[in-house]
Amino acid sequence: MTIRYTVSPGGPALVFSAAVLATFDRYRQLSLQEKEAGGQLFAQFDGADTIILEASPPKWLDRRSRNGFVPNRWIQQREIRERYARRLHFVGDWHTHPEPIPRPSREDIDGMIDCFGRSLHDLHAFVMVIAGTMPAPEGLYVAVVDRRSAKQMRLDQANQCRIMATSGAS
Ligand SMILES: [Zn+2]
Repeated sequence: MTIRYTVSPGGPALVFSAAVLATFDRYRQLSLQEKEAGGQLFAQFDGADTIILEASPPKWLDRRSRNGFVPNRWIQQREIRERYARRLHFVGDWHTHPEPIPRPSREDIDGMIDCFGRSLHDLHAFVMVIAGTMPAPEGLYVAVVDRRSAKQMRLDQANQCRIMATSGAS
């Protein structure tokens, strides 16, 4: 299963692969002891669409608490270089929240806007994903962030209609 998101219906899509959805699912904070987790998102481009193929797992040097996640920047930079050599492009970050339907905190948004402005890259925006305790897609918050703001993306309803129309015809 994959899930597609767009900012506007029929526009460029962000597609999450089954492997990426499985990673979000594995780190959901389902018990009170579980700390926030997170990592980076790596993708390939297919025309106007961005296909996210890997969500990297948390590292032992990350600082993790019930309501906080601070990744180790040095390991992140190394990971970006390694993946780039394998044609996987860094497109953003993901982390978990201990709430069913996650909402970004002010720090989440400001941190991504700041990171976008400081980074050397040729992307139009970074992707920010927050995985809540509900399964996807209800429990996923997906946004694109540029140097000004974060825009929440919506499930690509047009695509789902097409899938239903196709299966209905067969
Ligand atoms: Zn957060």
